[in-house]
Amino acid sequence: MDVDDPSPRVGGGSGADPPRIRRLEESVVNRIAAGEVIQRPSSAVKELVENSLDAGASTVSVTVKDGGLKLIQVSDDGHGIRFEDLPILCERHTTSKLSAYEDLQTIKSMGFRGEALASMTYVGHVTVTTITEGQFHGYRVCYKDGVMENEPKPCASVKGTQVMVENLFYNMVARRKTLQNSNDDYPKIVDFISRFAVHHINVNFSCRKHGANRADVHSSSTSSRLDAIRNVYGASVVRDLIEIEVSDEDAGDAVFKMDGYISNANYVAKKIMMILFINDRLVDCTALKRAIEFVYSATLPQASKPFIYMSINLPSEHVDVNIHPTKKEVSLLNQERIIETIKNTIEEKLRNSNTTRIFQTQAVNSSALTQVYTQKDKGTEVKMASGMKSQKTPVSQMVRTDPRNPSGRLHTYWHGQSSNLEKKSDLVSVRNVVRSRRNPKDACDLSSRHELLMEIDSHCHPGLLEVIKNCTYVGLADEVFALIQHNTHLYLVNVVNVSKELMYQQALCRFGNFNAIQLSEPAPLQELLLIALKDDELIGDENDEKLEIAEVNSKILKGNAEMINEYFSIHVDQDGNLTRLPVVLDQYTPDMDRLPEFVLTMGNDVTWDDEKECFRTAAAAIGNFYALHPPILPNPSGSGVQLYKKNKDCMASGEHVDSTDEDDIDHELLAEAETAWSQREWTIQHVLFPSIRLFLKPPKSMATDGTFVQIASLDKLYKIFERC
Ligand code: ADP
Ligand code: MG
Repeated sequence: MDVDDPSPRVGGGSGADPPRIRRLEESVVNRIAAGEVIQRPSSAVKELVENSLDAGASTVSVTVKDGGLKLIQVSDDGHGIRFEDLPILCERHTTSKLSAYEDLQTIKSMGFRGEALASMTYVGHVTVTTITEGQFHGYRVCYKDGVMENEPKPCASVKGTQVMVENLFYNMVARRKTLQNSNDDYPKIVDFISRFAVHHINVNFSCRKHGANRADVHSSSTSSRLDAIRNVYGASVVRDLIEIEVSDEDAGDAVFKMDGYISNANYVAKKIMMILFINDRLVDCTALKRAIEFVYSATLPQASKPFIYMSINLPSEHVDVNIHPTKKEVSLLNQERIIETIKNTIEEKLRNSNTTRIFQTQAVNSSALTQVYTQKDKGTEVKMASGMKSQKTPVSQMVRTDPRNPSGRLHTYWHGQSSNLEKKSDLVSVRNVVRSRRNPKDACDLSSRHELLMEIDSHCHPGLLEVIKNCTYVGLADEVFALIQHNTHLYLVNVVNVSKELMYQQALCRFGNFNAIQLSEPAPLQELLLIALKDDELIGDENDEKLEIAEVNSKILKGNAEMINEYFSIHVDQDGNLTRLPVVLDQYTPDMDRLPEFVLTMGNDVTWDDEKECFRTAAAAIGNFYALHPPILPNPSGSGVQLYKKNKDCMASGEHVDSTDEDDIDHELLAEAETAWSQREWTIQHVLFPSIRLFLKPPKSMATDGTFVQIASLDKLYKIFERC
């Protein structure tokens, strides 16, 4: 059948004739391809600068008009282009950098496809002026649609090559319009040049708007990376950078090396700045960027948008450079492992970099709240920061002794800090930093603390570590157990136990370098101790005895105040009032209902006369206080709501409690319980498990003491389902 003359359809079936397939004209093909390679003015600039670098330039100057739509001019002092190559310079797939496909495996140059210049001639007017070494004059030639428009004209020229692209996208109406309507590309161009300037420190870069006297990027070659960063991004960025380096020597020969700079806890920005070069190519790697962002937000939530400069080097055969039309991305062999190694290195670095950290009181939101209570003469005025009414309550009633009694629930009084407090605590923090800078060894080099950290490492169960590092949080199974999945296995994890251990380990890791939770007003130790002792039936009813115990304990704490403040940021003032607690895990505040018990444990259970034991027991007390215990208020979900009936007698007498009379419920208390429980659930998912994944080194005992229980293996379940 002649395809040009299809016979009429038999039977009058539905649908139109299939459209004819034609071969596109070459100029159309080229223009379509060009639109892909040169997506916007900044991509043209990137290609041109890469050509200059490939030509061995030591100076690259960029001039831009109208965000690059009117003019892009890139001049370099590289090796230039031979006269005899000029006729084919802008044809598609002409390159001096690659001859056989195999060369791609070892290619060092940034370009290799021979497409960039050609593409520019299909979507703009290109003029090249170039001179090679030993010539008396250069040549200038214009190109259109891949070919020379004129014979090369001799002209006066300085060393190197200048490529000028005018009226970009003049023949692509839609593209030009979109670009004209959106913000101009100049900031993107500046961004590219800045990144190049940070990596290629031996090249002078400049970038300016056409007609402007001042360059927006102006870098001069230097031997120091930090100088280059300072040059481009300013001294304030450099001040907050830490050097980072890692190589993967697993296989005996180092197959992967990374070095760079990352920002510390003091660097605060709105957006992450990630400058990544892989084998000297400026690329993006979303997976790596995400992993780094995650480490920062888990480790330094206040500084969660870091500045990162990173140069990764791998054997070229491990990098596939040919996966993206603009070479914006590359694909790596063992990418997951490389990302994991980098992630761990950054995490380690951030945790150890706290000596140069400027402490700031944790800015807490309404879900992680700050306690404010003000003592006045006999009673205590409880202040609600957000203008809620205050009430006078004796301090002894501020802690709930009956879970259903609303009076004295301390966590009710947690809320945002007043600016006054912030200033005060900032001052304290700054002093701390100054002190720790003067005596940098003071806090962190205590050998007993090191021994405890080593114990944690040596007791770590590698199997469990693998499980928690790579697990997925499924949800809460009940009040104490959470469900996690690792590969095809499901585990029940005791949230209280793992959080206690995590807090213990964190207390030792952050030792001497805690951020502070500031209590707005001092909480008298004596009172807290009495509250804790109040229900202790073992001590008997003698108030005197309790008073005495409280006094002894508060004396012990006062006597050790300097040490516990220095190492654990538990601050007791001269009058015996507790004023500050440590931030053991960012974004997390302990349940203040447990504060009196904590103070008692600190006084009673800490071994004070042996340094190592003292650190261990104090960290354990902190671990116990900060652990995610179930809230003291009973869980109101399901039939638990019955516990919030006002009429307790009816419950006590065992009457039928199934029917819930709306009016009978203590709604205020119920709401509080609901908040406490849902907040805990949120914290378990969003704070605890991400931190566990990052920080916890699970001790071997957890494999056998019921903390981790494997409950199902999905492959076995599938087998069961298959049989059904
Ligand atoms: P590629 O860089 O992939 O080879 P391009 O289209 O970008 O392809 O460039 C084609 C060729 O032109 C390059 O291989 C190089 O030989 C030459 N060239 C381009 N720009 C320059 C320059 N600034 N200096 C010297 N040679 C250049
Ligand atoms: Mg190129």
